[in-house]
Amino acid sequence: MRVLVISDIHSNLTALETVLSSAGRYDTVWCLGDLVGYGPDPNECIARVRTLPNLMCVLGNHDAATIEKMDQQTFNHEASLAISWTKHEINAQSKEFLLSLPQQQTVGDVTLVHGSPRNPVWEYLSDTITALQSFPYFNTLYCFVGHTHVPAMYQENPGDGPATLVHDYLRIDLSGRTILNPGSVGQPRDCDRRASFALFDPEAHTWELRRVEYDILAVQQRIKKYGLPWKDAQRLNEGW
Ligand code: ZN
Repeated sequence: MRVLVISDIHSNLTALETVLSSAGRYDTVWCLGDLVGYGPDPNECIARVRTLPNLMCVLGNHDAATIEKMDQQTFNHEASLAISWTKHEINAQSKEFLLSLPQQQTVGDVTLVHGSPRNPVWEYLSDTITALQSFPYFNTLYCFVGHTHVPAMYQENPGDGPATLVHDYLRIDLSGRTILNPGSVGQPRDCDRRASFALFDPEAHTWELRRVEYDILAVQQRIKKYGLPWKDAQRLNEGW
């Protein structure tokens, strides 16, 4: 079985479609939240995600703010402007879908959250100490997270040592308890502008990180057309 793992689409339909068409065969899709925010295509992205096979999806912080489940004041200026625009744009079906999303899902050996298993919607899991502190908060072998927009892999160590941050993996055989982040489809922040996603095989226990170029200019033109913050168009060029 092949699971397509995606996160942080952020209303970027061009990146999403490019990921879906370049991923090859997959049987099921797990989405780690933040379908909306920043980008110009909230309804289109939600409608497309809803069509994906055997979808499992969790709530992200931008999704939560859009449906008034999180205080918009906690977001930075550009993020907040985009959330206000998204609230205005979003249709009834999209809103209903976001309202249906749980904060956490468990499927087989895997826990799915947006932020961290300790604070599923809001905490950034971006260092080995936070990873160490996160392992007691899930019971499964693996936990898949998004939110940082940076692909990452943390392995649990025996004893009290911090988790190990694994570098230089593109395809890896997983062993032991591991926290994995597939990076962001619609707004990568690791200085690599290519859309990021992963393919997970739950039987073979393999994880494959993939990157793909997409038509950034087309997305920037829509950001401009709708009057969304230009900073959120610029950052797509450089991946920050
Ligand atoms: Zn995000």
